[in-house]
Amino acid sequence: MTLKDPDKIREKCAVFGVYGRKGLQAARLTYFGLYTLQHRGQESSGISATNGRQIRTHKALGLVPQVYSEENLKELKGHMAIGHNRYSTSGGVHDSHAQPVTSRRAMHDILVLAHNGNLPISDNLSSFLKEKGFYTDGLNDSELMHQVIRYFLVKTGSLEEAIKQAYPMFKGAFCLLIMTKDKIAAVRDSYGIRPLSLGKLGGGYVFSSETCAIDTVDGKYIRDIKPGEMVVVDSSGLKSYQLAKPTPKLDIFEFVYFARPDSNLLGKSVYAVRRNMGVQLAKENPIKADVVIPIPDSSIPAAIGYAATLKIPLEFGITKNRYIGRTFIMPDQHLRERGVEMKHNPIKEIIKGKNVVVIDDSIVRGTTAKKLVQMLKKNGAKKVHIISSSPPVKFPDFYGIDTPTQKNLIGANMSIPNIKKFIKADSLYFLSYKGLIEAIGVPEEELCTACFTGEYPIDIGKKRKLINYTY
Ligand code: AMP
Repeated sequence: MTLKDPDKIREKCAVFGVYGRKGLQAARLTYFGLYTLQHRGQESSGISATNGRQIRTHKALGLVPQVYSEENLKELKGHMAIGHNRYSTSGGVHDSHAQPVTSRRAMHDILVLAHNGNLPISDNLSSFLKEKGFYTDGLNDSELMHQVIRYFLVKTGSLEEAIKQAYPMFKGAFCLLIMTKDKIAAVRDSYGIRPLSLGKLGGGYVFSSETCAIDTVDGKYIRDIKPGEMVVVDSSGLKSYQLAKPTPKLDIFEFVYFARPDSNLLGKSVYAVRRNMGVQLAKENPIKADVVIPIPDSSIPAAIGYAATLKIPLEFGITKNRYIGRTFIMPDQHLRERGVEMKHNPIKEIIKGKNVVVIDDSIVRGTTAKKLVQMLKKNGAKKVHIISSSPPVKFPDFYGIDTPTQKNLIGANMSIPNIKKFIKADSLYFLSYKGLIEAIGVPEEELCTACFTGEYPIDIGKKRKLINYTY
């Protein structure tokens, strides 16, 4: 199936779930949670809810406020719900891939599933299902996982048992929320590549890809679901099962770009970590500039850290149109550059005649940096220095972010002096890899650093052939 633009990097998905006391409208809280997690996926959204008798699902293409009407929310009755925001990766743009995954044929669902992550290897799941007589054509990784768990649920009659049996077959990155009529299970791969947190909500529980959405529903963060752990909540309370030995490897890019600054990852404030990146950058690459300007939004904390350390004024000299989401993906380079112009506009009065430092969180293909240098110069900047608060992205991701192929990652194909020439900046700096790890403050071995180092903690199977390590 085709992708919208195979070369743009995209993040994939958010999950959110509520197990409440009887009488609570879990779907409405899930709606608020998904609204808060919109930054993790803007292509489609869905909620499944149950009152213990029937599971109802509503899902469609679009942003959270476009997908649900008041009528839809009213119909999603019950004290239990799971929800999902999707950003397509390998499945392409099609509402049939919107989640939660439901059974395509069965009239009444016995099991619904929401998945954040990606399985680089899933042939084993389709072979298993085919062997059992199931039709698997066109199913993506999440749908295959749903089918396999459903198979074991029918066979064993127990959700816990079904997940335990299916779990060893899942090879890749996954945070799953799985709901039956009386239980919600939260499951994380043994590396914990994508985040998943647990909170208390009145007499019940809340699960969320990021802690910021637990705050939105006035929940109280308890802890992260551990890598390799399954947590099951039902009327008897919460139980935890360790299904695999944990080897924690949270994706470093969650700190760099994905997560909202008001979330905590591994107990660290994302805002504080990004601010540290700016402080670290100031130590590594101090520039005598008139003004520091962030490219909104994700680089704002780093720019604050950089400017404060070097005592340079910080100005919001680039305005972002916030109604153009992270999905603003264009089919060719010319349109992509127009896209940057629509998304960002410099404020002349701040820039004119100045020696400007511009901070971005990452340089992927180089489009944003190149276009912004041009725009700032056109608006009278004397000098434009580009600083990335992360090292060059050199390797694609296969665990839930759809990065461009390696040939389109500028950091994989050009030396830093050549990138500087290409984007026509007066100078160009990247935060060092060591500096990034220091700023995060988590041991390097507990992070998945694949996009910078090419070290893939989970087997990527045949995709390894696509990777060139000579960069
Ligand atoms: P590029 O213009 O291709 O160099 O991409 C870098 C810009 O894309 C930066 O402004 C980042 O904030 C942003 N970015 C980084 N990662 C992603 C992602 N996964 N999806 C969309 N935008 C991203």
